Amino acid sequence: MKICMIGAGYVGLVSAACFSDFGWNVTCIDKDEGRLALLNRGEIPIYEPGLDDLVARNVAAGRIQFSGSLPEAVRDADVVFLAVGTPVRRGDGYADLTYVFEAVEELAPHIRDGIVITTKSTVPVGTGREIERRLKALRPDAEFAVCSNPEFLREGSAIRDFTHPDRVLVGCDEGRGRDIMARIYEPLSLRSAPVMFVSRESAELAKYAANSFLAMKITFINEIADLCEEVGADVSEVATAIGADGRIGPKFLNPGPGYGGSCFPKDVSALARTAREARAPVTLVEQVEKVNMERKIAMGARVERASGGSVHGKTIAVLGVTFKPNTDDMRDAPSLVILPMLQSRGATVRACDPQGRPQAEQLLPDVEWFVDPIEAAQGADVLLVLTEWNEFRALDLKQLRSAMSGDVLVDMRNVYSPRHAQDAGFSYSGIGRGTER
Ligand code: NAD
Repeated sequence: MKICMIGAGYVGLVSAACFSDFGWNVTCIDKDEGRLALLNRGEIPIYEPGLDDLVARNVAAGRIQFSGSLPEAVRDADVVFLAVGTPVRRGDGYADLTYVFEAVEELAPHIRDGIVITTKSTVPVGTGREIERRLKALRPDAEFAVCSNPEFLREGSAIRDFTHPDRVLVGCDEGRGRDIMARIYEPLSLRSAPVMFVSRESAELAKYAANSFLAMKITFINEIADLCEEVGADVSEVATAIGADGRIGPKFLNPGPGYGGSCFPKDVSALARTAREARAPVTLVEQVEKVNMERKIAMGARVERASGGSVHGKTIAVLGVTFKPNTDDMRDAPSLVILPMLQSRGATVRACDPQGRPQAEQLLPDVEWFVDPIEAAQGADVLLVLTEWNEFRALDLKQLRSAMSGDVLVDMRNVYSPRHAQDAGFSYSGIGRGTER
């Protein structure tokens, strides 16, 4: 089976590497020459645990190659996957499909009969039909199938998620598309991963519904955490209690500074727009989007409150700026709202992040960067934990406290025990928890 993967980003590169590890022959295409140059030198342009070894092994075995030349890769392929970005469109919050349709135009002249074109990118319902319409207009002579195969991997555990998925979802209306997609994923059936075949529309919508549901779960527990603070309950106890109910489940019940990342914000926004257009508004999802944005702003105010009402003239040491641990991805990270807000109120920001700095430096001006958390904390008035990297979990709190000139610790991921923090001399505030344990 020969695969052409268009887009060598977080999804394309991981999917391409995993498919090649299944034994398929994969050519990964990208427009970004810098990215291609790195890949062809054996370097990985993104941080994803285990990806460097996986790529190196399959390059050495001759099963994966990287190229900027789309025609040849498409001509040879049984399946072309589109794994290009679908960011939020400026102005209306809808998914921007420019990269998807550009790729379709580029590949159209080179398809041969029997080829399957599959969207791995997250695309609004109806996009498969539109791709088919455009391809038919460009190549009325060609016989092809258009499928939807939304990707559910998470950055930070992407390889494990791809190779041990809860399900593989394939939307296609054509018999041939279905046969080829079943063959591509056959190696996963050895691990009993269910491949679910549904209509193209169902697959496209299911991806948005899944992400919006998860965003809603996070937003729900964030609001419950705020309530806990007012009524003397502890959100971790509440989350454990409700999560034990099989109908609810324990995952995605950790409160924090609001969801971020490359998917949830844009997918929630796109689903809300799609639903409005379809005259079936998802008002609950619209509310999730609003509450989450307000939360990021409220988190800045929370730091001010913890600092005695103002951060003017204060130095804040920030541990973690990426939207979650084990990734270098800064897209829509809460830090991008919270840190500029604190700076605008007169704070000086020092920060450290195990992988985020290269991307974050361009997005967060006037931040002083450190490799070592203790150095970042040197002379700071406030310590702010924004991302729960393992590297920050077992820091010596006494050492941190004595490096600082102030004693405020705002732990937005509930990484530290309030009691240990207080014992180390901190004035501690977490999210939705009492200060006693
Ligand atoms: P990304 O920005 O990391 O990667 C996209 C890549 O596509 C870039 O390298 C870009 O240069 C390349 N590209 C764009 N147009 C091209 C073209 N015409 N030809 C060749 N290359 C082209 O994006 P990503 O995070 O990998 O996301 C891709 C899609 O997958 C999005 O729709 C996203 O919503 C979805 N998704 C992402 C994740 C995630 O965790 N990042 C998870 C599931 C689904």
